[in-house]
Amino acid sequence: MVHIEIKCNRNNFLRNIGSVIVLKFKKGDMLLLLIILIAGVSYFGLKFLYRDTVEKTAVISVNGKEYDRINLDKLTDEKTIHIDLGHGKYIHIIANSEGVHVSDVVCPDRICVKTGIINRVGESIVCLPNRVQIFIEGSEIPEVDSVSQ
Ligand SMILES: [Zn+2]
Repeated sequence: MVHIEIKCNRNNFLRNIGSVIVLKFKKGDMLLLLIILIAGVSYFGLKFLYRDTVEKTAVISVNGKEYDRINLDKLTDEKTIHIDLGHGKYIHIIANSEGVHVSDVVCPDRICVKTGIINRVGESIVCLPNRVQIFIEGSEIPEVDSVSQ
């Protein structure tokens, strides 16, 4: 009888300690969860804001003159741009949801093809021998401008 009582008390004691530990652990967990949640929300919030206010445009220029502009955000299908550079030379550019790249070119170094896909603001592909440049420009959406005016 006595032995059972002691055992019972000990179990209660352990259970109490256990619940205190669980409670503390849960508090710490919740704080950590809250921090992760806040960080996550602000990260995606900033990403969303950035996406909403900046438009990406691929600007293609030949001989220093603007040849074409492709709004990458409004691009639904793949767009191909074939530029005849004269004397049998040409450059073939593909723009799609992944970005912009030179798929084919008559070019001695072919660095433009080797550059691969560009899709971030500020990135560029340069074909020096043909004097062709593709540059990704970031611009604010006009709606934002009208609000600030
Ligand atoms: Zn090239």
